[in-house]
Amino acid sequence: MIQLIRGFKDILPGEVELWQAVETVARELLEDFGFKEIRIPVMERTELFARSIGEDTDIVEKEMYTFPDRKGDLITLRPEATASIVRSYIQHRLHAKDPVQKFYTIGPMFRRERPQKGRYRQFYQINAEIFGVQSGLADVQLIYLLVTLFGRLKVADVKAHINSLGCVRCRPKFKAALSKFLESISDQLCANCKRRKDRNPLRVLDCKVPACRAAMADAPSIIDYLDPECKADFDEVQRLLQVLKVPFVVDKNLVRGLDYYARTTFEIQTESLGAQNAVAGGGRYDGLVSELGGPDIPATGFAIGFDRLTELTGLKADQFYRKPDIFVAALGEKSRLLAFEWVCALGDEGINAELDFGGKSLKSQMKRADRLAAAHVLIVGDDELKKGEAILRNMETKEQVSVPINGLVEIVKGKIIKK
Ligand code: ATP
Ligand code: MG
Repeated sequence: MIQLIRGFKDILPGEVELWQAVETVARELLEDFGFKEIRIPVMERTELFARSIGEDTDIVEKEMYTFPDRKGDLITLRPEATASIVRSYIQHRLHAKDPVQKFYTIGPMFRRERPQKGRYRQFYQINAEIFGVQSGLADVQLIYLLVTLFGRLKVADVKAHINSLGCVRCRPKFKAALSKFLESISDQLCANCKRRKDRNPLRVLDCKVPACRAAMADAPSIIDYLDPECKADFDEVQRLLQVLKVPFVVDKNLVRGLDYYARTTFEIQTESLGAQNAVAGGGRYDGLVSELGGPDIPATGFAIGFDRLTELTGLKADQFYRKPDIFVAALGEKSRLLAFEWVCALGDEGINAELDFGGKSLKSQMKRADRLAAAHVLIVGDDELKKGEAILRNMETKEQVSVPINGLVEIVKGKIIKK
């Protein structure tokens, strides 16, 4: 038997209802905040991710699904969505009409990481991006939106972790101080961080290895190096979060490792996830649009881990699992044909009606209705046909009524919807 690929998964009925419910809540909230959906392809030229995510990151170095297509061009299954959204914004000159644009997208991402609980090789994200706003108001709106969404989805113990990464003017001084510090503790760092320390020192702050975390306890804090504008921006972000009553902590180790990330960066964490405690991450990436060949337009955005969200939400799949409104049990060829017509007509009326396609006994049809937990059963056989009346049974109250066969669909519809 052919099995699915390691790190990939099926989302089956019984579980998928939860995904649908989460997606509906997320879409509604995003649209209430003025975000427009954008759909982008799952594959792009490798170059796009290499340039936007950065050559020195784990994702580009070892996690991307990259292969030559039949003509030899290198293409990659997207590991994240921001790069594609930025490409699209530039390619279609969406900034020409109005640089301020809000987009969201929902879909699968691919990273060849080590599979473990909460970590898959195909996983799903909900992304939102705001282009064209330099003010911290945009960052705060994103954080507010996330916290509101998680509240609606009944995710417990969420807290926003925030930090500022400064900008191209103040970060070099911090980087120099950090590099100096890293030299002094270099023997305590993991192999990965020994390499990162020279190539991308900010990433060391982000390392999850306990020994690195301990060694970094006294690392310099970027907040002490912010220039006056960046400092004012970060103060404003915190003030606005307080105004909106969003719980947050300043986390000096929160980083994104690339140069075009600037100022506010954030992560939404929860106590209830174990090691993979981040449900969403985001931040400002003011240099990326121009880096990818567009005008100098600031931007900020986030990505929510959809898989983790479905594990955390207090909503339950069976709240949303749809059971048949009615099961039509028919005996005899004539009745069966009539039942089939009714079932199709009821489906068209928005009523989930089922029947037995195989012509089984009444007993086995009733068993199936029970197994499906149909709310009503309609029984029709030769006797009923003669009388011109079928029997409608409410499976919960066990109440039974006769329904004229003439005009049955309308009558049944009325009875079911009235309920
Ligand atoms: P992490 O620190 O968990 O590796 P990340 O920094 O790689 O996260 P981002 O690229 O910021 O993650 O993606 C945003 C969110 O997507 C994460 O907070 C997480 O919830 C989710 N996510 C990332 N990688 C995976 C994965 N392999 N499987 C499931 N969810 C993931
Ligand atoms: Mg990761």
